Amino acid sequence: MYDIIVIGAGPGGYVAAIRAAQLGMNCAVVERAELGGICLNWGCIPTKALLKSVQVLNYAKHSSEYGFDIEGEIKPDISKIVARSRGVAAGMSKGIEYLFKKNKITVISGTGRIPQAGKVDVTQPDGSVSTLETKNIIIATGSRANSLPFAPIDGDRIISYRQALVPEKIPASLVVIGSGAIGSEFAYFYRSLGTEVTLIEYLDNIVPLEDEEVSVQLSRSFRKMGMKVMVSARVNSVTATENGCKVEVITKKGTEFIEAEKVLSAVGVVANIENLGLENCGVQTERGKIKVDSYYSTNIPGIYAIGDVIATPALAHIASAEAICCVEKIANMNPAPLDYTNFPGCTYTSPEIASAGYTEKAAKEAGINYKIGKFPFTASGKAAASGEKDGFVKLVIDADSDIVLGAHFIGANVTEMISGIVVARKLGVKAKDIIHSIHPHPTMSEAIMEAAAAAHGEVIHL
Ligand SMILES: Cc1cc2nc3c(=O)[nH]c(=O)nc-3n(C[C@H](O)[C@H](O)[C@H](O)COP(=O)(O)OP(=O)(O)OC[C@H]3O[C@@H](n4cnc5c(N)ncnc54)[C@H](O)[C@@H]3O)c2cc1C
Repeated sequence: MYDIIVIGAGPGGYVAAIRAAQLGMNCAVVERAELGGICLNWGCIPTKALLKSVQVLNYAKHSSEYGFDIEGEIKPDISKIVARSRGVAAGMSKGIEYLFKKNKITVISGTGRIPQAGKVDVTQPDGSVSTLETKNIIIATGSRANSLPFAPIDGDRIISYRQALVPEKIPASLVVIGSGAIGSEFAYFYRSLGTEVTLIEYLDNIVPLEDEEVSVQLSRSFRKMGMKVMVSARVNSVTATENGCKVEVITKKGTEFIEAEKVLSAVGVVANIENLGLENCGVQTERGKIKVDSYYSTNIPGIYAIGDVIATPALAHIASAEAICCVEKIANMNPAPLDYTNFPGCTYTSPEIASAGYTEKAAKEAGINYKIGKFPFTASGKAAASGEKDGFVKLVIDADSDIVLGAHFIGANVTEMISGIVVARKLGVKAKDIIHSIHPHPTMSEAIMEAAAAAHGEVIHL
């Protein structure tokens, strides 16, 4: 009898298992594919490895600006770029195997299903089934790519992130439908490799969850690199042509047809909730996700769910934070519920985007008396030295209390800067506290101090 069986070994599941083991629980993880889930194998990590390759390419292309003459044409070798990304992912997955061993967690390969609370059936590829007994079950089965009903992913002409991560050749042209983090990162990656990219967004701005000024800046950067960016644009149909696809797009100006070798469908994810036995056990779902309380308990005692299978933001760090909270609750440790108004979101294009908390629009809609502090990287010494002056730091500050409500960064390496803001928001830090905290010079993060100062009319370098 286990204390906990976790189904799924992504950043939700493997973190839950490790935390449970740390707390002295006897724990097993059931996984049907690779350890590390989508994040390590088909998401966060391999995409960042691909993006690093094009960062190197872009540096090489601009090497003369930094004082180097690279002779001849710089040619991407896509098989090597992909092989490097796969190698990084495989190495990370091996790392999880090591962590499981170190924490004495039992790993069971196979597909998990819950016949009733307290039991998990594990099916092997040959059809054989074994039944395990446990006090608690955590469902962490993640998600897969969503597709538009009229443009089903066929893995060839219409692809998902799965195929986009492992191209055999660089496509001459690509239409990316959906400009969230995943769509934007692939659009940037392929454009950097020379593909003719059209990025199509249904809403009025690309990266639509971000502050509007950030979206506008990314659009500008994308257009500067020769990408076609279409907003307020609805894809109406995708039809096969001799060499690829024809995409019908409806915009305010009328209907436009775009031909491309490949279409990448980046229109969100669907939770893996099928064939888990949820109906048998009576576990409630709502709009395709498992329904949970603020400690991730389903309506059935002893069955919990975390990560992409529940209706919280589909991000790896959210899944891991939920895992820890859920396990600590099972261990009666009285954890605080997670604060979903204070989490970072990052997009690893160039320039990068990082944000947390209220956008300006959200503050306005909430009727908050707010002020804005903004500092552009054109005025930053580190950005100038790096030759990466695109972007800015924008802070949304409560005008009455001076507390920082939100932060919106776009620029080089800004994803490394956002954690400080999440901590600041947790502690209720005021803009004045940031102004009076000495920041290292020269760094991109000085821009946060300057943005806070700008909100108080005290900015130095502008
Ligand atoms: C291209 C891409 C890039 C991304 N980049 C980022 C990023 O930069 N930062 C970020 O925070 N997030 C990113 N994400 C999102 C992130 O990958 C997910 O939010 C995260 O992986 C969710 O974790 P999870 O543990 O809920 O599920 P998953 O990582 O999806 O893991 C679920 C696991 O469960 C297994 N499983 C499913 N059903 C069963 C079953 N019945 N039995 C046994 N095993 C089962 C699956 O095989 C899988 O291994 C990205 C996603 C994609 C697709």
